[in-house]
Amino acid sequence: MKALTFHGKDTIAYESIPDPEIITPTDVLVKVNLCAICGSDLHVYHEHEKGLDHGTAMGHEFVGEVVAVGKDARSLRVGTLVMSPFTTSCGNCFYCNIGLTCRCIHGQLYGWRQHEKGLHGGQAELVRVPLAESTLMKIPEGVTLEEGLFLGDILSTGFYCAKQTEIYPDKTYVVVGCGPVGLMAILGAREYGAERVYAIDTVPARLDMARKFGARVINSSNQNPIEVIKAITDGRGADGVMEAVGNSATIKLAYDLVRPGGIISAVGVCTDKYLAFSPTQAYDKNLTYKVGRCPARFMMNELVPLVQEKKYDVTSIISHRLPLSEGVAGYPIFANKKDNCLKVLLEV
Ligand code: NAD
Ligand code: ZN
Repeated sequence: MKALTFHGKDTIAYESIPDPEIITPTDVLVKVNLCAICGSDLHVYHEHEKGLDHGTAMGHEFVGEVVAVGKDARSLRVGTLVMSPFTTSCGNCFYCNIGLTCRCIHGQLYGWRQHEKGLHGGQAELVRVPLAESTLMKIPEGVTLEEGLFLGDILSTGFYCAKQTEIYPDKTYVVVGCGPVGLMAILGAREYGAERVYAIDTVPARLDMARKFGARVINSSNQNPIEVIKAITDGRGADGVMEAVGNSATIKLAYDLVRPGGIISAVGVCTDKYLAFSPTQAYDKNLTYKVGRCPARFMMNELVPLVQEKKYDVTSIISHRLPLSEGVAGYPIFANKKDNCLKVLLEV
């Protein structure tokens, strides 16, 4: 089969790799219809996250059709259209039972293979899905393939990020970063009841989308976001900050933006060695800092009805649709935000 594979820093290839096979009885094989490039793929692409085997199929955002079923995954039929969270989960362990499916003790992340162990990703013609019955979800009526793709990661992650800030209508919230995840966090914050949501980025096209999604925007290349937020909160700072970038500068910004006793919810993947604020700084703000991977499989259950309602035009952020065979070019386009790139979908 053809796949987009990792070959070192800033190097992706479109090449043939062996077709996946059913290995364990709970596996299914999915023929991918649509997949996407995520901000998380960029950490791997730029080798900020190190250790991925060369030749690994990239990606963890995909939807497609079941084409082969292991003997213990029979509730999934060949021909069924499915969506998948970006990690697999057993549905049975302690973590799955408390809704933290991203920490399933048997879970794996698509597109991560190290020392030949792990899972190939979804930017490929076929994907092997272990623990398929508990991982995959049949795409329900009223949910398009594109929406299903978003449910598997960015929509779930953005809403999770917002939820973690414990939203009240009369409080002030700030989203740092208006990439796909930050934009979904804006919608999430509104859905959970926030009336005052500010969004920070430096890219005008992304700020325009944030505005369309209902945020008041701050371009941090020409405005000081800390001054803006302090000015509207009697000098206190925001009640909740959603960090959707993942570097020391934005984590420090989130710290500076939040008021004493406030909550930072960080979903940006930060590969730096230390946190951008000290234990004393955290103490001095009575800070609650929530961080980590989104339990997308858990969030998908909650978000399907919202998507079916078509309350938000979530897929309007898709700026580029390319065939998988041109996916190599999609990486630098997305990474460098060329042609106002916001989200790249790859058609298989
Ligand atoms: P992206 O790279 O498209 O978006 C990042 C945005 O941050 C861009 O719009 C960029 O302009 C902006 N930005 C960068 N530096 C900034 C600064 N100093 N101030 C303000 N804005 C700044 O990526 P994305 O797809 O939106 O993903 C965002 C992050 O979320 C990534 O780190 C990704 O790995 C992570 N992520 C985490 C999870 C999870 O489960 N926790 C899931 C998906 C993605
Ligand atoms: Zn992703």
